[in-house]
Amino acid sequence: MGDLANFLIIFGALILVLALFPVDKLRRRLPIGLCRRSWMFLSTLIVFFFVGYLFYAYLFWGCALHWSEMVVPAVFFFGAIFVLIVCTLAAKTADDVTRLCHLEHENVTDPLMGIYNRRYLDRCLKQEGAKAKRYGLDFSVMMIDIDYFKKVNDTYGHSVGDQVLQSLAQMIQGSVRDFDRVFRYGGEEIVVLLPYTNCDGAILLGQRLCDWVGERPLAEHAGNSISVTISVGVSCLCPGVEDVGTMMARADRALYSAKENGRNRVERAAAPQLTNDQYDKLIINA
Ligand code: GH3
Ligand code: MG
Ligand code: MG
Repeated sequence: MGDLANFLIIFGALILVLALFPVDKLRRRLPIGLCRRSWMFLSTLIVFFFVGYLFYAYLFWGCALHWSEMVVPAVFFFGAIFVLIVCTLAAKTADDVTRLCHLEHENVTDPLMGIYNRRYLDRCLKQEGAKAKRYGLDFSVMMIDIDYFKKVNDTYGHSVGDQVLQSLAQMIQGSVRDFDRVFRYGGEEIVVLLPYTNCDGAILLGQRLCDWVGERPLAEHAGNSISVTISVGVSCLCPGVEDVGTMMARADRALYSAKENGRNRVERAAAPQLTNDQYDKLIINA
């Protein structure tokens, strides 16, 4: 009986030591902060319990002579198993959550440009459009296309073209506000969603982007700095009379006009074509 009690306590103490590994793995993945400090505190507690187990073993070594005296060693042993299971599960859960976050990130990100992809654009457009409509908020969209990009590929090769695309995407991403979102729309076309922004604000930003992009080299090839210009089409949602699909179509037409009118410029979309009903609705809402 005494041997069994000793066995339970010593093995319980060893199991507690094992629990320190998943806790340490988990703690090292966390950023510095309260959560990380709490896991460190838990490690200290485990060490404290480990010493407690050993001290108990020292005091009561071989003293258990009856089944009733096995209760405490059994609780120590199964308590240690419980701690090990909880800590291992916590570490495994953190692994799974991290993996899911990576998958979600990959699911919405364009691998070349590092900005959001077209699939996520469709989702965000619906959400932002519904929000703007519901609360009567400004909502603009900017459609950007690189001018004569084929020439860059033909002259310097596709890998340099890819570098230009990456630099442009990062530059645009760095130039917009936190709640604006940047997406790759197609080959070398980028869409920026601008919630809480009216048409004048969007035009201003588009003009600023045209100037910045034109001024800065976006890639290098054999000592040559490569810069490009962009054309931009801007439209803003006319709530109550159009949906986000027609807003995008108007931005696309504005981009086409920017190309036709000489490129390296911003064009504002024409107002949506209204039916008589829509016109009446607009007057009543105003
Ligand atoms: P425009 O001023 O009329 O826009 O002229 P453009 O030459 O830019 O014409 P367009 O927009 O039709 O050209 C798109 C080009 O973008 C064609 C294709 O070679 C290039 N492209 C599309 N996707 C990629 C990509 O992922 N990498 C590279 N390097 N090039 C791409
Ligand atoms: Mg182009
Ligand atoms: Mg294009």
